[in-house]
Amino acid sequence: MGLIADAICETLWPTRCALCDAPGAVLCTRCAARLDYLDFWRACPRCGAAFGFLQCDHCTPLVNKEEHTRLCVSALRYTADTGVLIKTYKDKGEQRLSETLAAILANALPPSWLRWANGVTYVSATKAARRRRGFDHMELLARSLAGQCGLPCIRALNPPTARDQRILDRAERKRNMQGRFTACEPLPGRRLILIDDVFTTGATMDQASIALERAGAQVRCATVARA
Ligand SMILES: [Zn+2]
Ligand SMILES: [Zn+2]
Repeated sequence: MGLIADAICETLWPTRCALCDAPGAVLCTRCAARLDYLDFWRACPRCGAAFGFLQCDHCTPLVNKEEHTRLCVSALRYTADTGVLIKTYKDKGEQRLSETLAAILANALPPSWLRWANGVTYVSATKAARRRRGFDHMELLARSLAGQCGLPCIRALNPPTARDQRILDRAERKRNMQGRFTACEPLPGRRLILIDDVFTTGATMDQASIALERAGAQVRCATVARA
């Protein structure tokens, strides 16, 4: 029955590429090849900035001494296409993109991380965002990523109570996030890959990581895109 329903849906509303509208896949191979991938061999190993392997202008000790003490990678540079892709997934409800985005993220993870980790977790959506979208987009993405990497997906963070980050500047974001994340349970022995959609200032990742570390976990961070 599922297959027949799928076939009917496919005839009435054929799957189209989120970027170029070509029929066939949620992201066609041409558009997938055109995305701006970040290379972790060249990127800053601490914050994931594009060319920071030797010297990073984002997390130089003079600028952000207390931030980014844990490792972080991002899969894509945040371009117009990346923005459309993420918006189509989380705001237009194209949930099938979770498998595509998870594959992009899985490719960006250093192989040593996959040997190190014993779980994947995610920055939970606020209750309001979850209600608005009808799903927690990072939870679904974490499930897809965990499945593709053969790791368990762990719900480790409670939904944050912070205001919407998008309207805030860097300093406000940091203040807004402080103490807003808490772990659901003690996490001793957990080595978690914590994922989020976009790394902007790193404030969200920092605060979410701190909450997990306080509960006893070790954390490495990965995001789909980096602004
Ligand atoms: Zn396309
Ligand atoms: Zn850096």
